[in-house]
Amino acid sequence: MRWNDKPYHTLDYEMKKIYGEKIYKIALDAGMTCPNRDGSCGVRGCIFCSAGGSGDFAAKKSADESAVAAQLEKGVQYFHGKQIGKRFIAYFQAYTNTYAPVPRLEALYREALEVPSVAGISIATRPDCLGRDVLALLDRLNREYTDKFIWIELGLQTIHEHTATLIRRGYPLSVFEDAVKQLQKISIPVITHVIIGLPGETKPMTLDTCRYLGSLGISGIKLQLLHILKNTDLVELYEKKTFEILDMMAYIDIIISCLEILPADMVIHRVTGDGPKELLIAPLWSLDKRRVLNTLHQEMKRRGTWQSKYSSN
Ligand code: SF4
Repeated sequence: MRWNDKPYHTLDYEMKKIYGEKIYKIALDAGMTCPNRDGSCGVRGCIFCSAGGSGDFAAKKSADESAVAAQLEKGVQYFHGKQIGKRFIAYFQAYTNTYAPVPRLEALYREALEVPSVAGISIATRPDCLGRDVLALLDRLNREYTDKFIWIELGLQTIHEHTATLIRRGYPLSVFEDAVKQLQKISIPVITHVIIGLPGETKPMTLDTCRYLGSLGISGIKLQLLHILKNTDLVELYEKKTFEILDMMAYIDIIISCLEILPADMVIHRVTGDGPKELLIAPLWSLDKRRVLNTLHQEMKRRGTWQSKYSSN
């Protein structure tokens, strides 16, 4: 099976199929915080999370900017000179983007949805921050903006409770599963983040996570390499050598096995990490993203394999 030239169902393929052109994401910082940092759930955050709240690429909000419109404009300018399409995805990336009073959330989401060049919004959040009022807002906006999409991105990382405790995720798997079902009921596609190479996680454990997500009917997945970033609590574990950092071929081998068991219709939003260069301590091989992707594609070709080859969904 092939998705244009790729052996897996890329976001790029999906967007071109729908819109006929490449759609870039513009990462936003809507000035949120996170319950895992403000004391509601924890104060130090997930052990791998940088001070930017996993939003290190988001356009930084300056005092005189409205929350999103000016950042979107800045984001569009960033692509200046590149061959880009007419539309963008407004990506609420930094911290927990449903963790604020509903009127504020509504104003932020609407501001993005009202921008003509925005094809849709993608909202990164936690499953324990999707109360009934937030779900009702998402449902209402989804029905109102019929020509745009609304996605929710959830950072599950793993289904294994022991690892979840170690990384201080702060909620059990049952909360994630419930959130996914609620979102599916209101037709909001869910994209799930999975981290590969977490301390204590083996390849079969990562495959368990992927198999589970395939069975839940998740719309999209981000498979990301664990990055050791400066000023995170993960650095201490790394320096004590309590776990192994994956080398490139070991990582590619796990990615291929994950892709093989994921359903064909699940959109692959990412297969590498995208750590900020200036914060990255390890693995440094991940900085050469082009090499990682080329090696992945060559290896899949060599193995004669593709996404869903062994999927039971
Ligand atoms: S939930 Fe997200 S923003 Fe909050 S600490 Fe964890 S990774 Fe960072």
